[in-house]
Amino acid sequence: MTQAIETVPVGVVQLPEPCWELVYARTGEEWDGGEVFPHFADQSEAESYAASLDDEPPLTTRRVDARCITASAACGAPLEDDNGALLCFSAVEELLREARDYGWSVRDGVLRCEDGDDCQPETTKE
Ligand SMILES: [Zn+2]
Ligand SMILES: [Zn+2]
Repeated sequence: MTQAIETVPVGVVQLPEPCWELVYARTGEEWDGGEVFPHFADQSEAESYAASLDDEPPLTTRRVDARCITASAACGAPLEDDNGALLCFSAVEELLREARDYGWSVRDGVLRCEDGDDCQPETTKE
């Protein structure tokens, strides 16, 4: 079960299933994408991401051995890198730090994307 910590903003979730990640086909070492280690919800997503990369040695996919913490904003936008790869963390603090780097914020205990106050659930937008 997911442990609820009271200070964790709404939008931070532990994934129900382990993610997929990219590793170097030759060495089995984790591919870091230059900065962060992108994760994928399913294997085919990971494969198409790997196929979209230029100038990288051959990469293959591997299942992560733990369930990650990730986040989505009030509007439903997932916390992703610029290429659309899910950003995953093992600690909430880490996640919040990275989210802020992407212009996200916490308001009223809810994660908002870079839209700030305009970040609202779809259902209240009409
Ligand atoms: Zn993950
Ligand atoms: Zn938003």
